[in-house]
Amino acid sequence: MNLQASPPPSNLFYQSRQRRPLVGEARGIYIWDADGRRYIDGSSGAMVANIGHGNEHVLDAMRSQMAKTTFAYRLHFENEPAERLARLTASRMPEGLDRVFFVSGGSEAVESAIKLARQHAVATGREGRWKIISRYPSYHGSTLGALALTGMELMSGPFEPMLRQMPKIPAPTCYLDRDDLSMEERGIRYADLLRDEIELQGPESVLGFIMEPVGGAATGALVAPDSYYRRVTEICREYGILLILDEVMSGAGRTGRFLAAEHWDLKPDIVALSKGFAAGYAPLGAMVAQRDIADAVLAAGGFVHGYTYAGNPLACAAGLAVLEEIERLELCANAREVGDLLMAELSGLKARYPFIGDVRGKGLLLAFELVSDPEFMTPLPREIDAHIHLVEEAYSRGLIIYSRRTRGGLEGDHFMVCPPLITSREQVGEIMEVLTASLDAFSDRLDLPRGN
Ligand code: PMP
Repeated sequence: MNLQASPPPSNLFYQSRQRRPLVGEARGIYIWDADGRRYIDGSSGAMVANIGHGNEHVLDAMRSQMAKTTFAYRLHFENEPAERLARLTASRMPEGLDRVFFVSGGSEAVESAIKLARQHAVATGREGRWKIISRYPSYHGSTLGALALTGMELMSGPFEPMLRQMPKIPAPTCYLDRDDLSMEERGIRYADLLRDEIELQGPESVLGFIMEPVGGAATGALVAPDSYYRRVTEICREYGILLILDEVMSGAGRTGRFLAAEHWDLKPDIVALSKGFAAGYAPLGAMVAQRDIADAVLAAGGFVHGYTYAGNPLACAAGLAVLEEIERLELCANAREVGDLLMAELSGLKARYPFIGDVRGKGLLLAFELVSDPEFMTPLPREIDAHIHLVEEAYSRGLIIYSRRTRGGLEGDHFMVCPPLITSREQVGEIMEVLTASLDAFSDRLDLPRGN
């Protein structure tokens, strides 16, 4: 690894403690650096490369679109890839969600959802509604609107004076609670916090509720008990507030269904998609809305929002080919099957490494936590920066995993193990071999206990 003191001019990330290698080629679940060293992409980048790298069908589709045109402004021309992608996307959504607005990434998708929801309230004579309740911790993006929904001080801290923070309720961290309730009862209790917050804020001021159905980077693949999803939906309907699902990470097959919402038969009003939607082949995202919501806004004069690159023909050609590959290769089914295997393997690590706490997730959106006391899920001390050490041990052995230290209700180190949805059962073995060697080295480095 080429470690250099100063970051390259293109890298302004605060996390960058050291220089990363230059990327070379990428194929399937592997990435090579410019020196020919191979890495397993165990987190699909940031849970993006769902169909793997270098997919020939997608590259062909992009090449043939490039030969025609790479850009035509949407106010001047419709374009075929965008129309076909919109139709295909709508066909994968729950009933009624068939109005698609293309953007270039996840933050833009969430930003667009916020603004459509607000315009819908105005268009339907409910101007008093503007608050969108979200959860803490959570991540919904880094633009100021999406950041106001994001429950992560690390991201929002410096911008507080510029933000109009939205109300937040605790994420359903049921596994941390120590009481006599069943998981399902705890799920109801967390969902009822939404009702309390709506009442506190004043029901006539609340526009919607946004959540990641399976948590992403902020919560480490947090899944709530089934009761939570049922109750949250009931509360949204009861108060007439929109249910917005941020499926930027959990969508496009990542959890074993096209939308994570399908696991609970959720009927969202608006969905935000990105990441796996174009799987890293192009910067692309989408906000998908219920027809009547979009129609009401159109009837009132149209959506006062837009981006220059919205519906870019090249990005949409890539997205279309990605969705075709998700279907052709049956990647939702593979994510379920290989995800079950990987989940079992990760859970099996607990016997050897007592510092592994909760192991959770759905499909191939999986994570494990590091703890000092597995019974009480006590986090490791913050000062030891455990997440950085484990990531570095894995990285030096050619395995990329994604980590975070969360603060607040979910204080601790968690690791996302989220390889591309094309991962085979044999490749799960490969990942586990490197991960085990990395955990051995990590426990030696930090002097943590280990079994056999
Ligand atoms: N929502 C969720 C759930 C995400 O995981 C992310 C990205 N990590 C975003 C929104 C923001 O997406 P982007 O970084 O593409 O703007």
